[in-house]
Amino acid sequence: MKLKVNEIFKSIQGESTYAGLPCSFIRLTGCNLRCSYCDTTYAYEKGEDMGLEEILTDMELLGCNLVEITGGEPLLQEGTGGLIKKLLDEGYKVLVETNGSLNIDVLPEGTIRIVDIKCPGSGMSERMDWKNIERLRDTDEVKFVLSSQEDYTWARGIIDKYALLDKSKVLMGVAYGKLDPRPLAEWILQDGLEVRLQLQLHRYIWPPGTQEGTLLRSTCRHDTLSTRD
Ligand code: SF4
Repeated sequence: MKLKVNEIFKSIQGESTYAGLPCSFIRLTGCNLRCSYCDTTYAYEKGEDMGLEEILTDMELLGCNLVEITGGEPLLQEGTGGLIKKLLDEGYKVLVETNGSLNIDVLPEGTIRIVDIKCPGSGMSERMDWKNIERLRDTDEVKFVLSSQEDYTWARGIIDKYALLDKSKVLMGVAYGKLDPRPLAEWILQDGLEVRLQLQLHRYIWPPGTQEGTLLRSTCRHDTLSTRD
């Protein structure tokens, strides 16, 4: 089974409760959504076909225990579950970033699933698979990316409606260039909302236009690497 891989690199994990840790990234090609703020449009189509052993060898070379599979949308590819299983068997801790539109239960037990809930500002909130909320485990994380105060109000409503804080860790971040983190921080504090505000650390370490971390392979232009999501 081969996977279509857009890029493989090592960096500092910029998001989630794992932020700050060294992490190897496997970015898979293809996405079924088209978010208004997407900064990984370069991963929609370009990629090289790689076998599982080849990817495992790359992970060994990069040498991080933490591996994130991202995209694009990783759940679109049939081989993703098999790759995760191999990585877990080899002792890696595996995070998967998924856009929330597909059934997360196709991923093997032991995967840490970071599930987006797309806000109206993304233009994709109608595409969510809301059953994913019932599928969450306490190791999973749910992520809202906000473009405006309207998105914040909407996200707060979803957190209440589904009692999300009882089900998993909840992350809130801003769509880069659309909303500043400061007003978001102030809304969270005013409301006493027990969510984790996340900044995309990699953007502060490697500003747009600079080479982020260690690039092992890429089928896209390097100047896009520092703007990954
Ligand atoms: S932001 Fe993520 S989910 Fe949205 S279009 Fe881009 S790659 Fe797909």
